[in-house]
Amino acid sequence: MQSCIFCKIVGGEIPSAKVYETDKVLAFLDISPVSKGHALVIPRQHFATAMDVPDELLQEIIVVVKKVAKAVMEATGAGGVNLALSNHEIAGQTVPHAHFHVIPRHAGDGLRHWPQGKYAEGEMKGYAEKIKAQL
Ligand code: AMP
Ligand code: ZN
Repeated sequence: MQSCIFCKIVGGEIPSAKVYETDKVLAFLDISPVSKGHALVIPRQHFATAMDVPDELLQEIIVVVKKVAKAVMEATGAGGVNLALSNHEIAGQTVPHAHFHVIPRHAGDGLRHWPQGKYAEGEMKGYAEKIKAQL
């Protein structure tokens, strides 16, 4: 998709700090890092969300994510790494080209996970049933 910023990175129209590539997958640094070394892993082909990516390609992407995550940890001295992926605007996706974030984490970096809630009595089972019915 021509107007997509990540497609432009794939096409070399705009620069990026590439760290790894295969014929189908590209990894480069996020321009506004949560912490330094924050990388993004994308399919070269445009798909809006992870759910749109064909299974075989998604498998290839996650293997690259694993490889890059190890390298990011080694290179930055991070004690851990968050692998994150937002799908659709409501979930915080700002670039509609599927991408995994690889975010190095350090002790005392102050980042917090999202707040968690509770189910009412019997509600969790109901959600599990509704989701199972879609699978
Ligand atoms: P998300 O908000 O999950 O869709 O992630 C999109 C990410 O793309 C953000 O973290 C941005 O900082 C990053 N980003 C946007 N434009 C560029 C760019 N030209 N090069 C590298 N990263 C970018
Ligand atoms: Zn794209």
